[in-house]
Amino acid sequence: MTYVVTEACIRCKFMDCVEVCPVDCFYEGDNMLVINPSECIDCGVCEPECPAEAILPDTESGLEQWLELNAKYSAEWPNITTKKDAPADADDHKGEDGKFEKYFSAEPGEGD
Ligand code: SF4
Ligand code: SF4
Repeated sequence: MTYVVTEACIRCKFMDCVEVCPVDCFYEGDNMLVINPSECIDCGVCEPECPAEAILPDTESGLEQWLELNAKYSAEWPNITTKKDAPADADDHKGEDGKFEKYFSAEPGEGD
């Protein structure tokens, strides 16, 4: 089992999650973060920290797409352990539907 980052993170990236992860298993894309499922120790401390409610345990149904995406991109994107400023328009995209189709970018972020 692992926790996964879902669509709600896209264009939010508040990054409260990276500060609390004891094993530093978040990876940064251009406009979202992902968790490395093989590094996550399933402690759950990041889930309540995310203001966008983007982090869910993979025991919830319907998350296969996100588990796959977290596994794929955590192998390609740089590690991120320090909180940065969220984008200025982050709040505008909180709770928006269809963000994956509209905005997902496979480009890596800057990392630490
Ligand atoms: S706190 Fe939530 S929305 Fe922000 S970067 Fe982490 S997973 Fe994404
Ligand atoms: S559940 Fe724990 S180990 Fe996994 S990503 Fe969240 S804080 Fe890190």
